[in-house]
Amino acid sequence: MLHGKNAIVTGSTSGIGLGIAEALAQAGANVMMNGFGDAKEIEADRARLEKDHGVKVLYSPANMMDRHEIAGMVETARETFGSVDVLVNNAGIQHVAPIETFPPEKWDAIIAINLSAAFHSMRAVIPDMKERRFGRIINIASAHALVASPFKSAYVAAKHGIAGLTKTVALEAAEHGITVNAIAPGYVLTPLVEAQIPDTAKARGISEEEVKRDVLLAAQPTKQFVTVEQLGELAVFLCGDAAASITGTILPVDGGWTAQ
Ligand code: NAD
Repeated sequence: MLHGKNAIVTGSTSGIGLGIAEALAQAGANVMMNGFGDAKEIEADRARLEKDHGVKVLYSPANMMDRHEIAGMVETARETFGSVDVLVNNAGIQHVAPIETFPPEKWDAIIAINLSAAFHSMRAVIPDMKERRFGRIINIASAHALVASPFKSAYVAAKHGIAGLTKTVALEAAEHGITVNAIAPGYVLTPLVEAQIPDTAKARGISEEEVKRDVLLAAQPTKQFVTVEQLGELAVFLCGDAAASITGTILPVDGGWTAQ
């Protein structure tokens, strides 16, 4: 379905980004991976995607806090692949603290990685997409793009911001064959979330199953985690011709969380 298309997925060395990179590769797209982590593990994932799906997979270590590195990543992808047809802005971090003790440097980092990076990368890919009259941009937002939770001021601000940025760029690009959408997941059991479960169970004196159901999934009516595979398939759908009229949307994939 995406044969001949070239994609960048930021923050794709782990979790949701890796799942989306894999789904795009499976659909036939060449992919540039990005993110941090153990060099050997990253190379193993890169080589596996290439081998399993018969596509070209590159890796960029660009730091999403640095606009020059973001521009360099886009340029490398364009030079190596010939074009960038799909951009998935997924890299993100979290910090949880009350506003009065929220470290200002964490605020700056979250706004930079979760919001400003998408501005810089979209700015870099749009001219070429306009010229080629095709583009698919997917910003990974969160249920926190639509509703708030306490102690997540920077994250909620960044995710609400990415919702506005998505709509704005969608309007600017609409007549050029480019769609811009945000996916707003509820809880996904990525390594990041998984790592918190044993400690929370110990701290609260409850089982790990109870942590999942009564703490993590308290706001999610299905009481099921969203999976990276579900998000990957949605991303592939948004890249296809059937989704050409879907633009400027914030698509909740949250088990009913934001319906409440
Ligand atoms: P994760 O920690 O598993 O993955 C985050 C990725 O971002 C990693 O590849 C990491 O290396 C990369 N990254 C972090 N800082 C970076 C930087 N400065 N430059 C480049 N890459 C950087 O997390 P995840 O759960 O897969 O989250 C991915 C996205 O999904 C984030 O935007 C997050 O806000 C969003 N999200 C996650 C959940 C969830 O429940 N896990 C829910 C809603 C939205």
